[in-house]
Amino acid sequence: MIKVYLKRKITPRVANGHPWVFNNEVEKIEGEVLGGETVEVLTHDKKFIGKGYINPKSQILVRLLTRKKSDEINEHFFYREILKCWEYRQQIGYTENCRLVFGEADSLPQLIIDKFNDYFVLQTLTLGMDKWKPAIVEALNTIFSPKGIYERNDVPVRELEGLPQHKGFLSAPFDTNILINENGFQFRVDIENGQKTGYFLDQQDNRKAIQHIVKGAEVLGAFTYTGTFEVHAAKYGAKSVLGLDISANAVEQANKNAALNNVQDICRFETANAFDVLKQWGKDGRQYDVVMLDPPAFTKSRETIQKAITGYKEINLRGMKLVKPGGFLVTSSCTNLVNEDLFLQIIDMAAKDARRKLRQVVFQKQSADHPIVRGMDNTHYLKFLIVQVQ
Ligand code: SAH
Repeated sequence: MIKVYLKRKITPRVANGHPWVFNNEVEKIEGEVLGGETVEVLTHDKKFIGKGYINPKSQILVRLLTRKKSDEINEHFFYREILKCWEYRQQIGYTENCRLVFGEADSLPQLIIDKFNDYFVLQTLTLGMDKWKPAIVEALNTIFSPKGIYERNDVPVRELEGLPQHKGFLSAPFDTNILINENGFQFRVDIENGQKTGYFLDQQDNRKAIQHIVKGAEVLGAFTYTGTFEVHAAKYGAKSVLGLDISANAVEQANKNAALNNVQDICRFETANAFDVLKQWGKDGRQYDVVMLDPPAFTKSRETIQKAITGYKEINLRGMKLVKPGGFLVTSSCTNLVNEDLFLQIIDMAAKDARRKLRQVVFQKQSADHPIVRGMDNTHYLKFLIVQVQ
């Protein structure tokens, strides 16, 4: 097996649990490197650290899969690891819909599997993981006997690994417009053409957190995607709900989800750019009891983090201005590049500009089926905040 020796300075970080080895962190490599192969990673003084997969095309040269020397990386390894992921989700109470595998946080780097009841959506984002796709599919078939498996590898990050973008069936074809049940409500999920894997499971617990504040309320939601928060609000007793998203497809799906849950009379969605509309409505003096914001990441790289800060500040300022005194702002941020402290600072800046005082109701993270691993900051990415705006 190819052996990758780390530089002395790098050894502690990787030896202490971090699964990535960057290509400038390697002292020497013994053997001919082929992309996607399993390699052994050793300390600068030749002690075994773990086994992982290598890709010389990627800045992250090796991602570790195991720390056990006796582990063979083969079909059975993937079966066993995916079974472990399933046992963990069951232990913590996520059985119907869940992120079954959350990449690095489950020691299966860059493998994402979302379980929507009997259907599975899979992403293999690196060459080393993509190679094991048949074994992963086999494991899913053995453990779950699924009704369908779909691949959503139509993501640009694959190109950094020299992989093409692709989507399609990994089982016999099936109707990809599936129906799921969340918190007792029903939602259509388009796993073929929806965003990411089709549905944002990471907010499933946060959607429940709005239950009390929306009773009898006039609610405005922005960045609604298929309307999950807004339909929850309507079902939890809101007086009226208006949702906005820039994607006409998402809005169409959201209106269908409202009808599916019998709340089409109080909950409707419109296509709009939230930045423009919220600004205008602020000028018009419109007011709502509850404003909910769930914007996209705004940036994917640390170099352009200022873009994200400006975006979050701007939209939260505009949202806050639309909240009646004593009403609530429900706001999220889904990028790990903006950490909890920075997110709260941004919200505080917006409050200062809006001349409003905030009282924190809840501050939560992603649901626990997307585990946060201590010491791996990028596994904690979602912030979810409810504040009373005084
Ligand atoms: N709240 C949703 C997820 C939102 S994802 C859920 O829980 O399912 C972010 C959404 O913001 C996407 O649907 C995207 O289409 C939308 N979006 C991006 N830019 C926007 C803009 N300027 N105005 C309105 N919506 C926007």
